[in-house]
Amino acid sequence: MKYRWVRFKSIVERIVGEDRLFSGKFIIDPYQKCDMGCIYCDAAEDTVFIKSNAMDLIERELDGVDGLIVLGSACDPYQRIEKKIGLTRKIISKLIEKGKPFHLLTKSDLVLRDKDLISSYDGASVTISISTLDEKISKFLEPFAPPPPKRVEVVKKLRLEGINAGIAIMPFIPNLTDKEVEEILKITAASGANYIIYEYLELKGTCRDRFFEFLRKHLPTCVDKYEKLYMESYKPVGYDVKERIKRACVKYNLRMGFKDE
Ligand code: SF4
Repeated sequence: MKYRWVRFKSIVERIVGEDRLFSGKFIIDPYQKCDMGCIYCDAAEDTVFIKSNAMDLIERELDGVDGLIVLGSACDPYQRIEKKIGLTRKIISKLIEKGKPFHLLTKSDLVLRDKDLISSYDGASVTISISTLDEKISKFLEPFAPPPPKRVEVVKKLRLEGINAGIAIMPFIPNLTDKEVEEILKITAASGANYIIYEYLELKGTCRDRFFEFLRKHLPTCVDKYEKLYMESYKPVGYDVKERIKRACVKYNLRMGFKDE
């Protein structure tokens, strides 16, 4: 893995249209690309760019920002390099100082490092993503992310600090995640999570090749099913688990969506 410090022209991006999943109005990514290596993700690359002038840009660009800022919709703000350089920590300190609400999306337990900051601020939310509870499959799919049970523990710890936190089933992998939906929602509820979000696996460009390579190696009997599901689009066609998730949410008394739908 290579890391390069690069000056960027800007860091705060306005979201055009409605952000159905995370309710954001703006995006801040401390890094470009990600070192966690998830095979289904187009941010997983061999080189990560660290925004060397991030704090100058934030100082300059934050004043006009009014609305929820999402950190992590493209690249994980708590990816491995963050442990060493703490750029996300500096950014959220600044957001808190300026009174800007933010929503962190991550797979990493490193977010717990910053719970002193996050728990002191009403405007912070944290969403932890998982796709499966199967540690073996997760290791193939998300080699550098913490095991899923550890991620659920993170939500529990955040909730114990009174932090608004939930779980995103992202990506929701057809024929894999659906076998575990009930169990995922059950442990999500047990963790004290405030909500659950989900979004289907998208297979674009090189992610598609990497994912099919994974299937051929580890789940060869599923290759045909996926070829059919993803024949016409990068999203699964004719696949819908909304009602199933809705029913499980009612059963476990969980809110579906970051905000009430
Ligand atoms: S942690 Fe998130 S951003 Fe990073 S490679 Fe995995 S899915 Fe992509």
